[in-house]
Amino acid sequence: MTSNLPRIAQPVASHHVNGGYVDDAAGDAIPVIYPATGEVVATVHAATDRILDAALSAAQSTQADWAARTGTERGRVLRRAADLIRKHNRALSELETIDTGKPIQETLVADATSGADALEYFGGLAGSLTGECMPLGHDFAYTVREPLGVCVGIGAWNYPTQIACWKAAPALACGNAMVFKPSEVTPLCALKLAEILTEAGLPDGVFNVIQGPGAVAARLVDDPRVAKVSLTGSVPTGRKVYTAAAARLAHATLELGGKSPILVFDDADLDSAIGGIILGNFYSSGQVCSNGTRVFVHRSIRDAVLDRLTARLAGIVIGDPLDPATHFGPLVSETQRQRVLGFIAAGLRDGATLVTGGHRIDRPGFYVAPTVFADVSDEMTIAREEIFGPVVSVLTFDTEAEAIRRANATVFGLAAGVFTRDLTRAHRVAARLQAGLCWINSYNLTPVEIPFGGVKASGLGRENAKAAIEHYSQVKTVYVGLTPVAAPY
Ligand code: NDP
Repeated sequence: MTSNLPRIAQPVASHHVNGGYVDDAAGDAIPVIYPATGEVVATVHAATDRILDAALSAAQSTQADWAARTGTERGRVLRRAADLIRKHNRALSELETIDTGKPIQETLVADATSGADALEYFGGLAGSLTGECMPLGHDFAYTVREPLGVCVGIGAWNYPTQIACWKAAPALACGNAMVFKPSEVTPLCALKLAEILTEAGLPDGVFNVIQGPGAVAARLVDDPRVAKVSLTGSVPTGRKVYTAAAARLAHATLELGGKSPILVFDDADLDSAIGGIILGNFYSSGQVCSNGTRVFVHRSIRDAVLDRLTARLAGIVIGDPLDPATHFGPLVSETQRQRVLGFIAAGLRDGATLVTGGHRIDRPGFYVAPTVFADVSDEMTIAREEIFGPVVSVLTFDTEAEAIRRANATVFGLAAGVFTRDLTRAHRVAARLQAGLCWINSYNLTPVEIPFGGVKASGLGRENAKAAIEHYSQVKTVYVGLTPVAAPY
């Protein structure tokens, strides 16, 4: 293939450590594959022990100086980085599309821009991270919000720019340093973030990116220099990371998978509900952790929902992700496509009705058609397991209590949606859904101002909003005695 992509995609070097690009060809080669064609567009190397140690040493040696700056100074660097990201949004979005296969129509508005929002938001907060003062009669005490130290970020492959920014922005705002390891499937975008932060004036070593498979991340988590780890990934990886962090009593934030429900009541604005189902299942070819993949619709509107959903999906433009007209691109890898096709086969075997899709698309790249199953029951594999692809299951219910009970009957608890025009019911149902984030008459909108994260097996801790500050800092209490100390003997 003679495409232009290798020229755009190949990074200067594999890692960004201590303010500059570095490489060590002794590390295993990792091919970067453009999911829309299967073409190898770049190669990076996994971090060797030397690179890993250099990144942690750089982070450790610079962190205290970074923390000693005023919050306003730290915030200024982050806000400059946000401006640079916005300035280079087109190029960063193209890189995100090449890394992930997501359509440029999406990446132009949802990836680098969302990362810029996080840097701007936490840059703005950095100067206001104060403690409290507690009067104690003759004495008093005060608290100081301190950084944790060196933090490790580990990313999934679906939002490589956004995930890196969502972790780096609050960590750096609080005065921490970070070593970030992207997914080996999408190694390119985080390097650009490191480059931009350096250009914005971030001191060398405060944010480092190293490549490699899970084993490299596991070594970072085990390192005694690391105070905290923040993972975005699957539940099995989350268990391993949490176990390793617990062994050292290190802090952990886990943003894990989901099998989120969307409840559509018979009084819902149906077009809006269909919009929510589409955004919550087919954006990014369904590779979104908070997707509402179990759609519970009131029995009386089942046919109307299926008719309108299939009619809207008939208009979807599937194709070259770099074409601005394309709505829907490939899955990230052949491995992920095989996994998704396996779930579709399970749905058919279990007796679900295939309404549309259910097949690979006949073109190069890792495409699977947008797929809708109806007549799905709670115990079917497709209703229980996270598919992470463009596959939605439509289930029917009769009563509100039944819908809530079945929506909650899952190990996951990341997100949930409720569509109804009844204000009281909307809040009553949201209160009873077991999820870290509930949308009422909306779905999958995650602005930086709102906390994001799961309950149950979907994770621990929160990203974004003021809540993230709690997870990247610790409180020191200082008791001040103003009177002589009276001891009994
Ligand atoms: P994985 O859990 O496979 O990988 C996540 C990251 O962890 C990757 O960088 C991976 O490295 C690394 N990793 C793998 N093994 C270990 C280990 N033993 N110790 C430390 N790190 C390790 O997830 P995917 O990349 O496949 O991403 C998809 C999953 O992520 C889905 O389950 C999805 O729901 C979840 N996700 C959650 C989000 C949330 O915010 N809740 C958002 C987005 C995705 P490598 O890839 O190089 O092997």
